[in-house]
Amino acid sequence: MLTLAGLKLEELENLMDELGATKFRAKQIHNWIYFKSVSSVDEMTNLSKDFRETLKEKAVVTNTKIKVKQVSSDGTIKYLIEYPDGECVETVLMRFDNRANLTACVSSQVGCAVNCSFCATGKRGFIRNLTYQEIIEQVLTIQRDTGLKVTNVVFMGQGEPLLNLNNVLKALEIFNDDFQIGARRITISTSGIVPKIYELAESELQSTLAISLHAPNHKLRAELMPIENKYSIDELKQALLAYVEKTGRRITVEYILIHGFNDTPEVAKELAYLLKDLKCNINLIPYNNVNDTKYKKSTNNDIMRFKYLLEHSGKKVTVRLERGADIDAACGQLKGKINE
Ligand code: SAH
Ligand code: SF4
Repeated sequence: MLTLAGLKLEELENLMDELGATKFRAKQIHNWIYFKSVSSVDEMTNLSKDFRETLKEKAVVTNTKIKVKQVSSDGTIKYLIEYPDGECVETVLMRFDNRANLTACVSSQVGCAVNCSFCATGKRGFIRNLTYQEIIEQVLTIQRDTGLKVTNVVFMGQGEPLLNLNNVLKALEIFNDDFQIGARRITISTSGIVPKIYELAESELQSTLAISLHAPNHKLRAELMPIENKYSIDELKQALLAYVEKTGRRITVEYILIHGFNDTPEVAKELAYLLKDLKCNINLIPYNNVNDTKYKKSTNNDIMRFKYLLEHSGKKVTVRLERGADIDAACGQLKGKINE
C-alpha cells in the first residue's frame, strides 16, 4: 500500500495520471496532507466518494500511530510515534510564550551510534535510520493531533542527522516545498561529523547548523563524546571555519552545562578563546538529569556566571529554556521509560 504523506506535488500528479484523474486533484490532496493534516482519505471531502474509494484501494495517508502522548504544564507536548515495523521515536512540540512559533523537535534515527556519555538516546545504541517520509511524518503527526501548523523544525530529537544526511536533506526539501516552512526556520544539530560538515557547506542550504560542542578542549570533550576521538575538536573547528567561510551563515554552538565538570570560570574563558574567531551564537543548555549517568545540572548561579563570561567576550549567548521537565522531554527520556 502506498503512503501519501511524504509525496511531493509532482509525485501526486503522477499518481493522479495513473488513476485517470486530473492534476487539480493532486493539488487538493496535497493541501489535505500538508495543510489540513488529515489522517485518512475519507476526510478529503472535496473528492467524490467514488474517487476516494479508488484512491483507498491504492493508498493510505499514514501508517504510523501515536503510542504515547504526554502534555506538560508549560504546553510542551511529547509524542512517542510508532512505525509499522514496531520501532518508535520521540517528537516534541514546543511553544515559547512570547513568540507565535510552534517548534517541532524531530528525530532522524531510531537510537544513535554516537554514544555520548550524558545522553539517554546514546545509551541504547543505534537501531536504524529513518526514511525521509518517517521524518516528515513526525511533523504531520503533530499537525494532525493539534490541528495547528508547525512553523519551525529542529533536528534535536534522537539520532545524529549527519549520519543520515540524504534522508535529512530530502526531508528538508519537503519541509520547504510542501509544508512551506522556510529553510531559515529549520536547524540541524550535530555532534560534529567533520566530513559531513564539509559536504553540507557545499550544498546551498539556508538552514542553521548547530554544533554540540559541550567542552572547549580535547580531554574534556572526549569524556562526554567518544566522537571526539574520531574527529577532534581541532579538526571540528577547521571544518566550522570553512563552513562559515563558504556559506556566510552564522552557526549555533550548543553547550550543555554540567555541574562542576564544564561550567567553571576557567572553562568559560577557554571556550571564549576557542570561539573568538568563529561567527557563532552560543546556546547554553542546562543539563537535563538522566538516570544512570553521574552528571548533574549546573546551579543557576553557575549558569549565569558562565553566560556572563562568554558575553563579556562579545558573543551572543542564550540559555535554553527548559521545556517539559515534568514529562521527561529531554532527549531520549520518554522512550527509555517505556522500554523499562
Ligand atoms: N545528535 C545530535 C542531535 C540530537 S541531540 C546532537 O547531538 O547534536 C540534541 C541536543 O540535545 C544536543 O546538543 C545534545 O547534546 C543535547 N542533549 C542530549 N541529552 C541531553 C540532556 N540530558 N540534557 C541536555 N541536553 C541534552
Ligand atoms: Fe547521539 Fe546526539 Fe545523543 Fe550524542 S547527544 S548520543 S549524538 S543523540
